[in-house]
Amino acid sequence: MLKTLNIKSRAKTEFIDITEEVKASVSKAGVASGVCYIYVPHTTAGITINEGADPSVKRDMLTFLNKAVPFEGDYHHMEGNSAAHIKSSLVGVSQSVIIDEGKPVLGTWQSIYFCEFDGPRHRRVVLKIV
Ligand code: ZN
Repeated sequence: MLKTLNIKSRAKTEFIDITEEVKASVSKAGVASGVCYIYVPHTTAGITINEGADPSVKRDMLTFLNKAVPFEGDYHHMEGNSAAHIKSSLVGVSQSVIIDEGKPVLGTWQSIYFCEFDGPRHRRVVLKIV
């Protein structure tokens, strides 16, 4: 099963929790045991899995990334969004989650985040559930 999630980011850089959408898609797919691939078909966005309980964690990750890869720098890319391209490659554009007993296997504190690095924009996240 292939499923597309439509995401609307609201900030230049932002982590958006898509855990519930992924869980709902896995449930709808009716796969008892398998894998859910989560893929972002963009060059200035990413996907990561990390703590969802304390919002300070996503704030700290984003603050670190923005400090490590500043918006302005010795970049040659004419579009002016090299920082976003670099963050996309650092974070990566996909994750895979094991499905067991019809549910994604996530730790108690784990959430799945779409990572916006050049927003605000309309974005897509593609799920392949097998
Ligand atoms: Zn660019």
